[in-house]
Amino acid sequence: MLKIKVESAEQTQAIAKKMGPLLQARDILLLDGDLGAGKTTFTKGLAEGLGIHRNIKSPTFTIIREYQQGRLPLYHMDVYRLEETGGDDLGLEEYFEGDGVSVVEWSQFVGDEIPADKLIVHLKKDDDNDDVRYLEFEPHGKRYEELVNELEKQL
Ligand code: ADP
Ligand code: MG
Repeated sequence: MLKIKVESAEQTQAIAKKMGPLLQARDILLLDGDLGAGKTTFTKGLAEGLGIHRNIKSPTFTIIREYQQGRLPLYHMDVYRLEETGGDDLGLEEYFEGDGVSVVEWSQFVGDEIPADKLIVHLKKDDDNDDVRYLEFEPHGKRYEELVNELEKQL
């Protein structure tokens, strides 16, 4: 598992940006971390790396935001609100099987729609320093092992 210590929001964004050019259609990234850990910040970097020059806002009240301006479509999902309702019949599969890259915040609230093959990115805050995060890249499946290897070469 690839682990990186970052010391600013800009650095988190820069690492995600490097991943942008490595992404393929139907890639799935789950961003795991507490509120304020940097999931949306990471997504902003990814979008930049895909050539999407738009303000990425957290889609908390829309659940899904779709960006079609880059090299690949980006489907940004934040399913936090599903905590209460249970996210069974959202139709997220349509996105996972679509032509874009799916990025999911709070994927623990989605049921069994999430495919087995995916990249989980864990974002953890530091206890003492507000600007420090630990990014851990946990690949599930060959495609994502390759993706993490490629990313590691770019760092
Ligand atoms: P989440 O989507 O996980 O709730 P956000 O990305 O919306 O988190 O917010 C993260 C906040 O933490 C932002 O205000 C950002 O500026 C700040 N921050 C400080 N240091 C970092 C870091 N190293 N990586 C990411 N965000 C950071
Ligand atoms: Mg967020």
